[in-house]
Amino acid sequence: MDTAMRRRRIASLFAALAALRFVMPDTATGAPPGLMPPVFSPQALPYTENALEPYISARTVSFHYGKHHRGYADKLNELVKETEYAALPLEEIVKRTASVKGREAVFNNAAQLWNHDLFWKGMRAGGGGMPGGKLLEMINASFGSFDAFKKEFAGAAVSQFGSGWAWLVEEGGTLRVVKTGNADTPVAHGQNPILVIDVWEHAYYLDYQNRRKDFVAAFLDHLVNWEFAAGRLQQPKARAVTP
Ligand code: MN
Repeated sequence: MDTAMRRRRIASLFAALAALRFVMPDTATGAPPGLMPPVFSPQALPYTENALEPYISARTVSFHYGKHHRGYADKLNELVKETEYAALPLEEIVKRTASVKGREAVFNNAAQLWNHDLFWKGMRAGGGGMPGGKLLEMINASFGSFDAFKKEFAGAAVSQFGSGWAWLVEEGGTLRVVKTGNADTPVAHGQNPILVIDVWEHAYYLDYQNRRKDFVAAFLDHLVNWEFAAGRLQQPKARAVTP
């Protein structure tokens, strides 16, 4: 075989490989050929924007869901483009970037996207009141009474200094109230979040101005979707409800 023929054979081999790559799924993202990798976005609201009135106005939901929540997704998409995170599930990105130097922006936007998905699903029109069944039993066992839980949850939400979140989490078969600052999330700390309230000012300022305490009371008394919260319990193995 002369050199020219060898060159032509090598060229056609490369052409064949290139063609094969074109029809094979992208191994980095698992995406079908010719399609973009998965794009992160806020999960659909389980109600209309005015469904939570008068406790949370349509205007607040419009800005909070449509601008803030959407903004975290858009920023995350920018940050993970063509990185090892692009093909991972959101929760996995949160876990893998927590406390990793140089990955703060990815963590902040991924965690904020995840936290807001849980926040919206933990509310419904005509919510509030008390849970029943296993969740109420666990609340009673963990806090002494439902009223004691409410007091602790409201206290955490009101006392979180600056931006953050107050949570009901499941950990080691028991329930706890915890609060986190900024984007921080129990997902990064091995806890299973059951319910969350967003206490960043953007969550309540249009409706309550500086009265965070009134927003927290409205959330507990009129908005909590306890059936959704109960569905997130892992003990005993309950049906899985992902935010
Ligand atoms: Mn928010």
